[in-house]
Amino acid sequence: MEMSISSTEQGVRYRQPIVCVLGHVDHGKTTVLDAIRGTSVAQKEAGGITQRIGATDIDAETIERSARALLKGAKLKVPGLLFIDTPGHVAFSNMRARGGALADIAVLVIDINEGLMPQTVESINILKKFRTPFIVAANKIDLIPLFTPVRDVSFIECLKKQRKEYVEELDRRIYELVSALYGQGFQSERYDRITDFTRTVAIVPVSGKLHIGMPDLLMMLAGLAQRYLENDIRLRTDETRGTVIEVKREEGTGVTLDTVIYQGVLRAGDEIALNTRDGPAVTRVRGMLINTHGRKKGLREVESVQAAAGVRVLISDKLDVIPGTPMIVVRGDRDKIFEEIIKESSVSIPLSEHGVTVKAEALGSLEAVSYELGQKGIGIRSAQTGDVTKRDIIDVATLQDPMEKVIIAFNVSVLPEAQQAAAENDVTIIQGNIIYRLIEEVEGWLAEKKKQLEEGRKQSMPVPSKLVILPEYIFRTSKPVIVGVRLLSGQLKVGDTLIKSDGRYGGTVKSIRENEVSKNYVDAPAEVAVAIDGVTLNRQINPNETLYVDIPESVVRELRARALDPETMKTLEEIIKIKRKENPFWGTRA
Ligand code: GDP
Repeated sequence: MEMSISSTEQGVRYRQPIVCVLGHVDHGKTTVLDAIRGTSVAQKEAGGITQRIGATDIDAETIERSARALLKGAKLKVPGLLFIDTPGHVAFSNMRARGGALADIAVLVIDINEGLMPQTVESINILKKFRTPFIVAANKIDLIPLFTPVRDVSFIECLKKQRKEYVEELDRRIYELVSALYGQGFQSERYDRITDFTRTVAIVPVSGKLHIGMPDLLMMLAGLAQRYLENDIRLRTDETRGTVIEVKREEGTGVTLDTVIYQGVLRAGDEIALNTRDGPAVTRVRGMLINTHGRKKGLREVESVQAAAGVRVLISDKLDVIPGTPMIVVRGDRDKIFEEIIKESSVSIPLSEHGVTVKAEALGSLEAVSYELGQKGIGIRSAQTGDVTKRDIIDVATLQDPMEKVIIAFNVSVLPEAQQAAAENDVTIIQGNIIYRLIEEVEGWLAEKKKQLEEGRKQSMPVPSKLVILPEYIFRTSKPVIVGVRLLSGQLKVGDTLIKSDGRYGGTVKSIRENEVSKNYVDAPAEVAVAIDGVTLNRQINPNETLYVDIPESVVRELRARALDPETMKTLEEIIKIKRKENPFWGTRA
C-alpha cells in the first residue's frame, strides 16, 4: 500500500476526524462499532478509549498500537478518531455542520454475503449528496464457507491463516461487491490493492463479530482523513462550533443538549447561539458533562472541551432547540451568526404544486425521505418537520385530488386529534421509521388509489346499451314514465341518458327495478321496470320504441380499447352511426 503516513508536520495540528457508520439493517453497523470499541478496550490501556456522549473517542496511540504491523512504525498526524454513536444514514443526514454533514468520513457496512440492499443504496445516495468520502467494511467474512476461525486480528493477519479455497471465494464476493458499487458510480477495490485512493473506494473485509479487520479499518480512516481531508480537520481555535444531536427537557435541570463539538473549544459560561422553533436565539452554557470510561465510568462535569468531542451541554434558558442544527459560540456580530444559523438549518427540497405531504422529525431526514420519493417520481407539495397535527390534516383535506389526501410521517407521532380528524376527513397517514419501507408503502397506496379511481370512473362511465320498451308493460305514461323494458346489450344504469334511433333525446333513467328490487344498474340480457324522466310516453317516445344509452364522444376510444362483449360492441357501432348522421366525424377524435 502506497499511503504515506508521516509524523506530525511542524505547526499544523489536526482534530479527530468525525466518523459515522452507515448501512443496511442487520448488516452489522452496531457490531462493527462495538468491535472498534472492543479492540481498543482489549488493549487494556487506561485512557485509550473514552466514551463520550453521542460519540466515542479513540486516540491515535490506540490506533497505532492496534495497527502497528500495518503502519510499520509510522505515526499518525490526527489525534485519533471520533465515532458518532448513533449509526445509520438517517442519523448521518440529521447531523449537519457548515451546510454539509457533521461526519468527515463514513464507514459503509455491507454484509459481503448479501451485497447491496435498499438501505445501502439510500446510504450511498446520501453520501454522494454530501460528498462525504467513505470506506466499505465488507462484513461477516467469517460466514464465507471454509473459514478458518481466528479473532482479534487484522484482515492481513486473518488472510495468512485462511485456505486457498476460502481466499478465492472471498475474492469472488469482493468482486461482486466491486461490480455492484460500480453500478452506483464508484470504483472500488480491496484496500490493500489500491494505489490511488482519490479515485478508488477502499473495501476492508471485516468480521464485526470476531473482531477481524478493525486495525485495518482504523488505519484506513485515519490515513485517508489526514491525507485528503486536511483542510476540514485542521485544528482551529478562532471559532467554536458544534452540532446539536439530541435535545432533552428535564424537570428541574432544564434543557440539556447532546452535542458534538467539531471546531474550537467550548467553555462553561460561553454565550452560544442556537436554532429554536421560534428562530435563532442566544443562551449560556451552564454546565458541561462528558462520559468517562474505564475505572471512573459515568458522567463527569468539565469546565471546557476541545473539538472534536461529544458533550452534554446544560443551557440557561428553556429554549425549544431543533435537533440537527448548529451551536455557535457568540464572538462578534450576533446578527451574522443568526444569519448563518438560519442558512445552515435550511434544506433543499424541490416542491411541486401537486403531490404528497411529508412530515419528519428533523430537517435531514425530511430531506432524505423527500429525495427517495423524488427518485420514485412522487411529487411533494409540502415538507415540514414536526409531529402530524390537526392543522396538517385540515390542510390536506381541502385538496381536490384524492391522490393528494395522504400524509407521509417519518419518525414522528400523529397527535390524537389529528388521528381523529384524519378518519373524519378521509385523509390517509402513512407512518414509519424505515425510509425504503415507507416509500414502498406510499407507492402501494398511490397505485391502489389510482386503481380505485379508475374503477370508479369506469363504473360511472356509460356503457353502450340497447333496449326496447315492452308495450304490454306500461305502468305510467308521464312524470315519470314507468315501463317494462328488455335490455338487449350493455349495462343500464340509474342516471343514464337515453337517445332514440334518430339521435333525439329519449329521457333520463331515474330508477330501475328488477323483480321488485331497486337496482343501481343491470346487465344485459334482462327485463326490468324503469322510471324515465324528461319525456312523455306516446309523445317523444312510444311503446315498442328502441332506445340507446347515450355516450359522450370522449369515451369512445376508451370503450373501444376495453374488452366489451360482441353484442355491446355492435351497439357501440350502431350508436356511432346514429351520431354520424349529425356529425360525420363523430368518434374519430380524442
Ligand atoms: P445493524 O442492524 O446493522 O446494527 O446490525 P447488527 O450489528 O445488529 O448485526 C445484525 C446481526 O448480524 C446480529 O445478529 C449480529 O450478531 C450479526 N453479525 C454482525 N456482524 C457479524 C459478523 O461479522 N459475523 C457474523 N457471523 N455475524 C455478524
